[in-house]
Amino acid sequence: MYFKRLVLSCAAVIFFLLTIFYKYVLVQQEIKENKLQVVCTTNIIADAIKNIAGDYIHLDMLMGPGVDPHLYKPIEQDVTKIAQADVIFYNGLHLEARMSDLFKNMQTIKTTVAVTQDIPVAKLIRSQEHEEYFDPHVWFDPKLWAYAVTTISQILQKHDPKHKNTYQKNSSIYLEKIANMYQVTRKKIATIPKHKRVLISAHDAFEYFARAYNCQVMSLQGISTASEAGTKDIQKLANFIISHKIPAIFLETSIPPRNIQAVQQNVASHGLTLKIGNELYSDALGTYGTKQGTYIGMLTYNVATIVQELR
Ligand SMILES: [Zn+2]
Repeated sequence: MYFKRLVLSCAAVIFFLLTIFYKYVLVQQEIKENKLQVVCTTNIIADAIKNIAGDYIHLDMLMGPGVDPHLYKPIEQDVTKIAQADVIFYNGLHLEARMSDLFKNMQTIKTTVAVTQDIPVAKLIRSQEHEEYFDPHVWFDPKLWAYAVTTISQILQKHDPKHKNTYQKNSSIYLEKIANMYQVTRKKIATIPKHKRVLISAHDAFEYFARAYNCQVMSLQGISTASEAGTKDIQKLANFIISHKIPAIFLETSIPPRNIQAVQQNVASHGLTLKIGNELYSDALGTYGTKQGTYIGMLTYNVATIVQELR
């Protein structure tokens, strides 16, 4: 008798818990469905969206920390996420080279937005390797990234008019923070003597940075990581480093280090020491929740690292 009562009360408790869980799932689902469903490619774009829209939207990001967007191929889950989205944000300018077809195909049925679409063409840097393309790494010029932030904000306001005022206010605050960060980081870079302000890294991600911060840049690979650096490129870069007495070169978090190490070995074969500086963030932010996991934190960190190694 006692056993039967125990079984019955256990069953009642389990039923009660299941009911609560089911209701919770339903509520969560409703919340999710009421929110604008947004998908973006890189975590740099995700950071801008989060600063503007916070929890008012449901955001899915396709590429996390350390992912190279030039080589990223969409997986099955990405296609499902994109199919369910109301708005899709991507960098454009051929950054997500292997996803271009997917976005093109989606264009007629979905709102797909290249966040770089409103940057005046005159402000873009043309690719040295492919005349028909522009350099996609525009986030390294905070003034250009401000255009992208504004574009994201306008699209969100249009598709989620309920929160229009909040999005407007949040983007103004965020743009001001970006402008302040630019002023502070520019002053820091200016403390490096002009002849030492040469940034050497694995791929051409820093052309906009160089223009915005008055530096010189050199790299092993072209603008996309799809092309491999050859022995000649390594030799050429090593010669430049030796003749200009460059103290350090930089690794990038989303690019394998082998080519930069080859340059270091080449310089060493001439009896000279070349330091490999800390990794710079180029095409992806750091882990979410860390300082480098935000756009402002990433640029601040990069500048501090460059100043420390070159000054
Ligand atoms: Zn890149």
